Amino acid sequence: MIRYALICDDCEAEFDAWFGSSSIFETQREKGLIACPACEGHHVRKQVMAPSVRPSEKAGASDPEKVFGKLAAKARQHISENYDYVGDGFAEEARSMYYGEREHKPIWGETTQEERDALKEEGVPAEPLPPAFVPPKKSDKSKLN
Ligand SMILES: [Zn+2]
Repeated sequence: MIRYALICDDCEAEFDAWFGSSSIFETQREKGLIACPACEGHHVRKQVMAPSVRPSEKAGASDPEKVFGKLAAKARQHISENYDYVGDGFAEEARSMYYGEREHKPIWGETTQEERDALKEEGVPAEPLPPAFVPPKKSDKSKLN
């Protein structure tokens, strides 16, 4: 997984997105599948980033894929231990918490694009999880503990 800092040529919005590899990014970009979250335009390109690691440092130790893999594993574990999976009910749960109708708790689940847009419009805090951060879904048997 690679995270790219992207910029929209139409409205100059800057945003981050995750891709399986640089070639997947290029393919999606060429097909116009990457949309700017601000204006939904497709003229999106990579931002030029300054290197954060000095070239003299040993290369192998900071292999970004490995570092990301560890990070993702940690995030997955953290989410599966501390967050309740609410499935399709995510938008509703997040909204009820936002409006104080129920107690705040960490949750994760699934939304449709429409639900996501609606949450965003209402100012309900919710962030998409990068695919590598998504823990295995808990089945109902976890409730029997
Ligand atoms: Zn834009």
